Amino acid sequence: MEAWQTASAGKLTLQKIAEPGKAQIRVHWVNGNDGLFGEARPIVVDGVRGAEVYVLPAVVPPDETDTLLRETIVYLTCLHETGHALGLAHTAAFADIMYSFQYGGDITEYFARYRRQLSARSDIRKHSGMSDEDRRRLVELWTAK
Ligand SMILES: [Zn+2]
Repeated sequence: MEAWQTASAGKLTLQKIAEPGKAQIRVHWVNGNDGLFGEARPIVVDGVRGAEVYVLPAVVPPDETDTLLRETIVYLTCLHETGHALGLAHTAAFADIMYSFQYGGDITEYFARYRRQLSARSDIRKHSGMSDEDRRRLVELWTAK
């Protein structure tokens, strides 16, 4: 969420609130093995559009010993699904975090190119995983409102 806030160039101010039932965006860690990495479902909270976001943190990467690859998959999934929660739709551009695998890109390489930027988990803070187009679309979306 901090990555999206930074990308919004001041258009979005996101904050954690004490009461989960009032949150417009709610991220849930879930278990499952249906092939999905995550999902965002629209909700309305006090008349404002929001989303329930579900992410599978226990995803097993192709190389099970690579914990940073697992962290990569979980982070990029969170980023993609919270992007939906903020109103962003899919794109067909492989560079974008809002890219959809429905367009048939190389899923392994999609995650691996981000993974190659990491030497430690804390490096995730240094690499947003967004493209310039993701940022442009976010700012455009939230400027129009
Ligand atoms: Zn999606």
